Amino acid sequence: MDNMFQKVSKWGNIALFSQKTPPFLIFFVTGRCNLRCKHCFYWKNTERGNTDDLDIKAVERLSKEFNKLYNLLISGGEPFLREDLLEICILFYKNSRVEKISIPTNGSVSSVIYDSTRKILNACPDLQLTIELSIDGPSEIHDNLRGAKGSFDATLETYELLCDLKYQFTNLRINVITTVTNENICYLHQLQDFIKAKMPHVDNNFFGFLRGDCRNNDMFLPELSYLNQLECIITNHNKNLWSSFLNKLFFDVKMATLARKKQIINCAAGDLMGVVDNNGDVRLCELLRPVGNLREGRFIEIWQSKAANRQRRSIRRKECYCTHECFIAPSLLYKPANYPKMMRYVCSYLMRSLMRAPCSTCRVNQD
Ligand code: SF4
Ligand code: SF4
Repeated sequence: MDNMFQKVSKWGNIALFSQKTPPFLIFFVTGRCNLRCKHCFYWKNTERGNTDDLDIKAVERLSKEFNKLYNLLISGGEPFLREDLLEICILFYKNSRVEKISIPTNGSVSSVIYDSTRKILNACPDLQLTIELSIDGPSEIHDNLRGAKGSFDATLETYELLCDLKYQFTNLRINVITTVTNENICYLHQLQDFIKAKMPHVDNNFFGFLRGDCRNNDMFLPELSYLNQLECIITNHNKNLWSSFLNKLFFDVKMATLARKKQIINCAAGDLMGVVDNNGDVRLCELLRPVGNLREGRFIEIWQSKAANRQRRSIRRKECYCTHECFIAPSLLYKPANYPKMMRYVCSYLMRSLMRAPCSTCRVNQD
């Protein structure tokens, strides 16, 4: 009951009361990465490595500016290559009272990921920590996209190590994130079957659509007719009903956005969500230009600046659109203006779930 009360009160605080700082933050803690993935959208920063990463003092100042942070997504580069990652998590845990931290990782530095995760869980007992392993296809496809032979196997080794931790810490979750591109779309059924069979402790498998300006310009997001074939994987292959539903909901919103080439729900960027790059750039969203830099001012000043307000107005006028799920999720869940639309998606989801027969690929796999 307590738990339900806390959930409702959290929802109320986020959805109904505006805050001085966003309740959700994406923080790119480093530009350093040991891989050179073809589809990387952060590649210009990774080319510069960690040379312009914010130092720990700047991170501490940033963490003190958030009175209450609900979700922190720590990204990169490869976040686990940042040697003070533990310290960063502790700073946000203590100063911003963060409830959930998610860390996407390429999974290649298995023992480092294991050690850091264990230390974070020990140091932050009330934190819900999610490690998001990037897996983009069966072994060969994944290694080719990631530009490193053996990276699929390394990620599996990381998964095994994290499973050991999952037995000890109930507040650890393991997700798999798959980026859909022209080079892996045909293999995603195969990947899903692999995950179901060999990675039973994965909590959720989310699909992100390729976005931004990626390293290799022969990478692209397949056409809508091809993407449509993913509906079956997303809806039928997730073991958890709630994550299946969320996946499907996000999928429908993304498909409608691509089809209509416009923002079809009110975006939460600049309102509920903010972004800080490894060099201190502050953004309202990952895809729009920075509105300031932490080396020149405090986060809160930049967040409330004229430049930020100008961009905020442009977002509210729906002058941009994208399929970035990190922004779609809070927009749907915490922006009451989107609830009527969300209800329509829920109804259509229920109707289609009742009526749908498995797709031909599933039938072949079942036979
Ligand atoms: S996609 Fe991630 S792992 Fe790959 S190069 Fe970019 S930052 Fe590194
Ligand atoms: S719709 Fe996309 S591009 Fe526009 S502000 Fe939201 S997240 Fe950014």
